[in-house]
Amino acid sequence: MQTGIMSRSRPRIKIYFISVLVFAVLLSGGLTVIAKWTYWKGVDDILERGNVRLDLYVNYLKGTLEKYESLPELLAIDDKLLHALLNPHEKTRIATLNKYLETINKVSDTLDTYLLNKDGLTIAASNWNEPRPFIGRNFSYRPYFKEAMKGHLGRYFALGTTSAKRGYYFAYPVYKNKEIAGAVVIKIGVDLVERKWAQEEESYLVTDPDGVIFITTNTSWRYKTLHPLADQVLERIRETKRYPHEQFAPLSDKILTVSPDYQVLEIAKESGGGARRFIKQSQYMPQAGWHVHILTETKGLKRKVLAVSVIAGSGFMVLYIIAMLLYQRQYRLEELNRIEQKAREALRDANEQLETRVHDRTKKLTEANILLKKEILDRKKAEIKLKRTRRELVHAAKLAVLGQMSAGINHELNQPLAAIRSYADNAKKFLEKDRLEEVCYNLDQIAELTERMAQIGVQLKLFSRKSGDRIVVVTLQSVVDGALEILNPAIKKAKVDMTISIVPQNVKVKGNHVLLQQVLVNLVTNAIQALEEQEQKRITIDCRVTDDRVRISVQDNGPGVLPKELKNIFEPFFTTKKSGQGLGLGLTISSRIVKSFGGTLEYIEQPDGARFEFSLEQVV
Ligand code: ADP
Repeated sequence: MQTGIMSRSRPRIKIYFISVLVFAVLLSGGLTVIAKWTYWKGVDDILERGNVRLDLYVNYLKGTLEKYESLPELLAIDDKLLHALLNPHEKTRIATLNKYLETINKVSDTLDTYLLNKDGLTIAASNWNEPRPFIGRNFSYRPYFKEAMKGHLGRYFALGTTSAKRGYYFAYPVYKNKEIAGAVVIKIGVDLVERKWAQEEESYLVTDPDGVIFITTNTSWRYKTLHPLADQVLERIRETKRYPHEQFAPLSDKILTVSPDYQVLEIAKESGGGARRFIKQSQYMPQAGWHVHILTETKGLKRKVLAVSVIAGSGFMVLYIIAMLLYQRQYRLEELNRIEQKAREALRDANEQLETRVHDRTKKLTEANILLKKEILDRKKAEIKLKRTRRELVHAAKLAVLGQMSAGINHELNQPLAAIRSYADNAKKFLEKDRLEEVCYNLDQIAELTERMAQIGVQLKLFSRKSGDRIVVVTLQSVVDGALEILNPAIKKAKVDMTISIVPQNVKVKGNHVLLQQVLVNLVTNAIQALEEQEQKRITIDCRVTDDRVRISVQDNGPGVLPKELKNIFEPFFTTKKSGQGLGLGLTISSRIVKSFGGTLEYIEQPDGARFEFSLEQVV
């Protein structure tokens, strides 16, 4: 059974192992697909959102620029400016213009407003009252001035050489009869633009046509470039004094993905230690010649991918565990079914075996029964036969006994009869001779012989006694006394030493007085006869109580019964005595009497002499 489970569990472990492997492969594959999908979906979302925000930002920038775009042109038509250009030495006029420009500057919320003559020299400026006014400074090197001198609206971004403030410049020519006399310039600040749009994960940048970042919501990126600048570009920047820097470090040295819509690039952290990854989307602003960019950090996307992967992984794990549990449950059920099936089969087999055995046994029993019935029938027949045989035997035995008895009686009676006849003959002869004394002696002998013959009759009467004498309570002492009275003459004659012991003295038994006396007389008479040859003659009658019964024994110191005669002594008419001394009925009669009182007369062998013993029920 155990080895069965072991051998089944091995493939199961294999299945588990394979399932774990398959699950691991599927999990890694599935997670890769999900992570990729989440990533690209995230990228799409970022791009979509970025496009919207970029549009907004560009529009905002456009709006800001457009708000000021027409202001220089408006100012240029003011005669005050032309007059000042024409009369640069009229101090009051210049002072008035300065104040005018200051007012304009304040009202239109621009950084600076100033007027340049056709050589680029500042004639009047809104910051006339500040520590470092523009007045007297030459800005002919500035591209916006050059552009205005060509009759166009000049626009330019640069760091103010005097103010060191980043600003966007608009310049428009001031005409004197279609001839350019100078240019009016306004500078607007870009700080607000940066502050307004500053965000944590999204950074906005604006690059000039050379790729230099001049507006950015991330201040540390300012004046960095999107790509390394060529030497002649650097030279030009230096000439135009656009930026005070000599070095223009590239923003990113690692561009990972380049696509028409976006780029993925890595930017080293200022604090050092690793790089941040961004998705860059760009849009061109043709009016200003700028590129506007939005950089969205992929940190959030990474987190999202990780979260989705973890959730999906957990989901897969849960599904796997549920699947394994279901499989386990299914397997258990199958196992249970298998065991049940086996148990059922075993039960069925056992049942079948049992049925076969029962059937066999029943068959055997039926056969045995038939045999038994046959045997009973045979037995009954045998019994009937036996009974018949016994009856026949009894009959034969009876006849034998009768024969034996009649032979015995014949013998016992013939002898005294013959003696009587001879005594009678003798008496007749003595009477004829008148010898009366002898006649008398012979008659006495005849009388004695008849007495003996009468005694034989008594014995025969006792032998043929029918059972049914009354059983009563008798005192053993009185029975013994009665018997001794009868026996006394014989005891005395034989000179026997008698010992009587009755303990307790008043012990009572169930029996019949006369018959019990007869038993004792028979046993003691036998003992006296057995002691005939003995010099010292001892007879002991012993009565004692053991276990509610009274044991009575008669013991003598005679020769005892010979072993070969033992089996016959209780048989009727068995005697070893001389003719005239016994009929062989004493022990038979005594045994029958004792039996009728519920006891058994036994001969108990002794080292010296004979002992006959029987027990009777004690009456308390
Ligand atoms: P009987 O006395 O007429 O012979 P019993 O039936 O009384 O008949 O005795 C049968 C025989 O048992 C006797 O002939 C004798 O051989 C033997 N027997 C009985 N009592 C004694 C005894 N006390 N000692 C030795 N033998 C005995």
